[in-house]
Amino acid sequence: MDLPNAQQQLKFLKNIQLILQSGSFSSTYKFALLISLSRLAIEKGEDSGGSLSLEYTDIAEKFVELYWKQVVPYVFNDEGQLILNQNNGKQATIVNRIIELRQNYSSLGLLRRDSAVWLRLLKDVAERVKNMPVRKLQNLNGQNFEFLYHLEHCGKQLILLPQVIYCLRQFSEIIEELCQKRWIDYIRKNSSNAPILNQLPNLEQFMFEPSRNQLNAVANVLVELQDCKCFYCNKSMRKGNYAVDHFIPWSMYPSDTGHNFVLADSSCNSKKSNLLASDEFLHKWHERNEEQDLIIVDRISVLGFLTDKDRSHKIADWAYKKANQDNYILWGLTI
Ligand SMILES: [Zn+2]
Repeated sequence: MDLPNAQQQLKFLKNIQLILQSGSFSSTYKFALLISLSRLAIEKGEDSGGSLSLEYTDIAEKFVELYWKQVVPYVFNDEGQLILNQNNGKQATIVNRIIELRQNYSSLGLLRRDSAVWLRLLKDVAERVKNMPVRKLQNLNGQNFEFLYHLEHCGKQLILLPQVIYCLRQFSEIIEELCQKRWIDYIRKNSSNAPILNQLPNLEQFMFEPSRNQLNAVANVLVELQDCKCFYCNKSMRKGNYAVDHFIPWSMYPSDTGHNFVLADSSCNSKKSNLLASDEFLHKWHERNEEQDLIIVDRISVLGFLTDKDRSHKIADWAYKKANQDNYILWGLTI
């Protein structure tokens, strides 16, 4: 299979820009779809230049993860609360389903464990995704513009076109950032969200980043797993003087997976910042995940995070390969 050349890669980026600029957006589904495809390309794809079939339920799972966070009611001024409207008219259907389920399940982890309800949800969301954003994303001013995927006739799968996986993996950070920015803009411009937006200075954090409470709960698990020692320098940590670190930095892959968390003292955490850690730590992280897989799955998934070791490792493979290829600086204790 041929890898896309420089010109084809540039064309791909321009096309992404084009659909984000010129496409009509009646809801936020299209942003969710692009982000989902980009994350799935990292988790399931290869850099071979080949195509990839995706099940609609895989995409549905990503949708649920993205919206689960955003349907938390935002309380403003003690006067009331409001859930962000993700649609031009009434609230988007998928969002309504998730709002309903949030009333019975305090975390995504607990919902996943109730497999009958979880599978039913994935099936319904998959159906919606297939009939709405998947049909609309590649439609520009009424013209079908098939540059990302092809729809299989029996309708079970979406096939990412040859070379698209490569480009999505190559440019996922740009795509994530563009989509998040546009998504936030959409929410801000939607007049039904106006009452809360003045009260919500950091919409980005509210919509996409993990909550402080969730991370504190993760910290409590990791304190035990790491015997209260810093993952990087191995020194004992005092209570309160540590932070949950995304081993693969959030800036590279902005989605939380349970195995990606390590606990670091404040000093290592701030020095590592959004860099990748050096190879010795990559090795240590792999070992930690192999040895403590069961505990991580058991205790971090209930906090609402996806915990799938193989997926986390696939994301790391992608990140380190990219770092090597693009000459990213790796962080180690010696620098
Ligand atoms: Zn340290």
